Amino acid sequence: MTQIAPSFAGSSLFTVTAPSGAGKSSLLAALIRKDPSLHLSVSHTTRPPRPGEENGREYHFTTVEDFKKRLEQGEFLEHATVHGNYYGTSRVSVMNQLNAGYDTLLEIDWQGARQIRRLFPETVSVFILPPSISALEERLNKRGQDSPEIIKQRIEAAGEEIRHASECDYVIINHDFDLALTKLAAIVETARCRMSRQAIRNRELFAQFGIPCSTGL
Ligand code: 5GP
Repeated sequence: MTQIAPSFAGSSLFTVTAPSGAGKSSLLAALIRKDPSLHLSVSHTTRPPRPGEENGREYHFTTVEDFKKRLEQGEFLEHATVHGNYYGTSRVSVMNQLNAGYDTLLEIDWQGARQIRRLFPETVSVFILPPSISALEERLNKRGQDSPEIIKQRIEAAGEEIRHASECDYVIINHDFDLALTKLAAIVETARCRMSRQAIRNRELFAQFGIPCSTGL
């Protein structure tokens, strides 16, 4: 299957990874409120919806059978098993957004982020770290969405996720929500200023100034 590199449409692809309870989803929701031109990909998952989650909004909730069928048909750009459930990113949806010029965010685990970087080396990868292990445990407990057994499982999984933090380009320590949000927005803006992106988005201006583009356009 032919992949079109995101830079061809001047758009940027981001992965945002974090252990559960680091505040990743709240940060991303706030980022999109600040900048509605950003597109957050909605993944498929076989985990059951939590109270308040809606099919098609947080996730496309599906069965193991349906997920495996989609996987065989090559529908996922990346996929992984996380906490015993399947998760995958829709190839068509992400490629359509990128090719239409929308900067796109993938909220995925380290395994998925690694696959995406392999496919698109220009991907900007961000890791959100909680300020401490105790803060992480406290946040998971407070969330009140999962059973104690699941919370215990997630705390153990957090250690595994965090061990892969250094694979990312950027790390944000979320001890202050507003500050973390400012940093995340700054990373997005920095990526947008890359020469390869600007040269595509501002083709005419670059041509007027006679700027030679040797960015693989
Ligand atoms: P949750 O079930 O708490 O929403 O998510 C559990 C973990 O799965 C999180 O680390 C989340 O980032 C990750 N995740 C969500 N969607 C995807 C996806 O499409 N692919 C991968 N690889 N991980 C995902």
